[in-house]
Amino acid sequence: MLLETARRARESGAEPADSGIETVVAIGEPVRNPRLELLPLGAALSSAWGCGIASTYASTEMQTCFCECVYGAGGHVHPELMYAEVVDSQGRPVAPGEAGEVVVTPLGVEGLPLVRYRTGDVARLFDGPCPCGWNTPRLGPIEGRLAHRLKYRGTTLYPEMIFHVLQEVPQVEAAYVEVRADFDLSDHVTVVVGVGEDGSIGREQLLSLMQARIRVKPDIRIETLESVKKRMFEHGGRKPKRFFDYR
Ligand SMILES: [Zn+2]
Repeated sequence: MLLETARRARESGAEPADSGIETVVAIGEPVRNPRLELLPLGAALSSAWGCGIASTYASTEMQTCFCECVYGAGGHVHPELMYAEVVDSQGRPVAPGEAGEVVVTPLGVEGLPLVRYRTGDVARLFDGPCPCGWNTPRLGPIEGRLAHRLKYRGTTLYPEMIFHVLQEVPQVEAAYVEVRADFDLSDHVTVVVGVGEDGSIGREQLLSLMQARIRVKPDIRIETLESVKKRMFEHGGRKPKRFFDYR
């Protein structure tokens, strides 16, 4: 929506970069990859509005949030408000920089205290000082939901990784992922992409991009933007559904 707003502003003769906006804060929307580099969407937003971009991550249970500072090096943990861990499948903390489930213990919450609450979200904690001067750990972008993890030829894959690759392809205006159980050890993953009337893209082009970026070759189905959007909104909610799990 923010990209579209910038585009329309420009069409009507206004320059979004002159609007005085200093930072776009993306709430619950990762704008970086696990190496903390901007994703194509984050970079496009930053350049369209000529401003910085920061991401936040939070939930009601946490009663606080992880928010990036201007250096965009992960969301800072506020140690007086929350104890944060990233753990493996056995609940043991993993080494800094390694991916695992985010587990939080909010501090100072009365009424319903939570101890080591499992969020179901996967991310990495980075230690070491941040250029802003804080020394608290920082949480990297959410890489996916634990429950959405796909079994794909021995590698760990989350639908979000596929969506992040598709951000590089402007012709793809909407996409969802379907997964079905297969007889072998891999899930059967289908990526359905919606292409608008003016755009065209070949399956092979998308496949080689997936192969290059995340080393997977899922089934790819190209449909009209209309039919893809219809499927994503047929549940009647406000947010599009992007993952259909039939396992
Ligand atoms: Zn910082």
